Parts: sequence; C-alpha cells; structure tokens
Amino acid sequence: MAEKIVRNAEKKDAAPKASEAGKQTAESVKKAAAAKKPAQTIVMPNKPTGGSTVGLRIGACVLWLLAIVCEVFGIMALMGYFYPPFGLSQLAFLIIMIVLDLALAILAAQLWKKANRIKPMSEKRGKLLFYLWNELGVIMACICFIPLIVLLLKNDKLDKKSKTIAAIVAIVALLITGAASADYHPITAEQKEEAEQQITTDVYWTQFGHKYHLNADEENGCPYIRTSGTVYKGSVTEAIESGRTTICSYCAAHYAEEMGLQLQSLNVEDGDETEQERPVDTTSAAVDTTGE
Ligand SMILES: [Zn+2]
Repeated sequence: MAEKIVRNAEKKDAAPKASEAGKQTAESVKKAAAAKKPAQTIVMPNKPTGGSTVGLRIGACVLWLLAIVCEVFGIMALMGYFYPPFGLSQLAFLIIMIVLDLALAILAAQLWKKANRIKPMSEKRGKLLFYLWNELGVIMACICFIPLIVLLLKNDKLDKKSKTIAAIVAIVALLITGAASADYHPITAEQKEEAEQQITTDVYWTQFGHKYHLNADEENGCPYIRTSGTVYKGSVTEAIESGRTTICSYCAAHYAEEMGLQLQSLNVEDGDETEQERPVDTTSAAVDTTGE
C-alpha cells in the first residue's frame, strides 16, 4: 500500500516561532521543521498490486452499456416512442438521461484507465491499436452522445427552445465525458516492466502531479516535490497504478545515476510540470553524465 506523508503537521509546529521572530523567510521555517524531524523515516516494503484486470474491464463495459441504455431511452422519448414517466416533460427526461449517461460513461472510463495501468498493452501490438485501446474512453464517449446529439438536432417534434437547451446540454456532456475519459499519460507494458526492474526503492508523488519522483527529501530532494505538503510514497508499481506513469525529468537527470539506474529507455517525460514552477537549472530529461 502507498503511504501518505503529510508535512503540514511539522510546519505547524514551526509556524509560531516564525511569527515570534517577526519576518522570517519560508526557508528558515522549513529548515527549523527539517531539523526537528527528518523527512520520510518510515520504510514501506514494495508490494506489487498488479493482478487480474478482468473485473475492472468487465465493470467498465457494463457501465458503458448502461450509459448507452440511458442514451437509447433519451432517444426513444425524443422520438415519441413513449411519454416520460412521473409526468416529466420531454426536456426534463432528456436532461436526466444525459446526466446519467455522463456519470456512467465517466465512471466506466476510470475503471478502464485503471486496468490499463495495472496491465498495460505491449507496444509490440502497434501504435494504432495501443492508441485505440488506451483511448477507448474517448471513443465510448462519442458513442454515448453523438447519436443522441444528431437525432436531437434533426428532431422537429421538440419546440425550438427545448431543442436548443437539450442540444447544448448534450454537447457539453460529450465534451466533459471525452475530457474525463482520455488517458493523457498512457504507459506501455515494456515501460512499466522496465521501471519495475530498474527502480526497486520507494518513489514519491503528489496528489495532483502525474509523475513520480526519486528523492523527496526536504533539504536536497527534487524541487518539484520537496515543498509539497502531502507526499505519497510507495513502490514504482503503486505510483504507476495510481496514474503517475512517468518519472520526473529532474529526478531522472539528478538522482538516477547515483542510484545506479539505467533510465535511457524509460518513460522519462520532458516538458511541463504540473506540481509547481519549473526550476531554471532543469535543462534535460536525459541522464546527465557530466559533472561527476
Ligand atoms: Zn522529481
């Protein structure tokens, strides 16, 4: 199991001192906190959580099927095959069906993405298949909304105002579902396997970051994570399965070599960081062999 480290508790102890001393920098507060208690003293064993993903995939398919059922009900009410129950207007019934459709489709896609991280597809299957498999959520979002939107726009039984409202709601629902269902950082089976073979120590990640880090020490750790209030710690398998599929480029460049890691072909991602601002000295995602 991944471990959650909350650093705010330590910082709270240091905070009163800062106010007593007047204007103290955040750095000295941090140092005081660090001096009191070294960060990350608990060591957790690496427990791979991978296993069968059949349940997750069946769950995803069932939820997508239910989402399509909601869409079909919406279409049938729209076409006048039945009157909406409970005295609901056609518009109200349609909107309820669209919202249910959205909720089921988003939930399905989360299960699908989770399954893909536990058991990723091999890159040997080809780029197209890999893409389709990982972005099935987006394809399903289209299936769950586009037929309804087309029929809604072609429909002449609804009054113009209801039609406009329903069409806008359906298009917004399609966009939300598509965005929530896309897998922005898919991983291949080979990348996961290599990460697991190479990195046998714990890695760290933040609540909203999409990368994992090698060193979260508050003094000399990765600048992207050392000031984060809450840090999650676990095996690289746990990091990947919780959606942190790539190693932080700063960590790959600064800590990998001293840890004896060969990261050349690992899923190292260059570019933007979501956790905080990128420090100026980060220039390359490649393992830096100079300066030692
Ligand atoms: Zn890092």
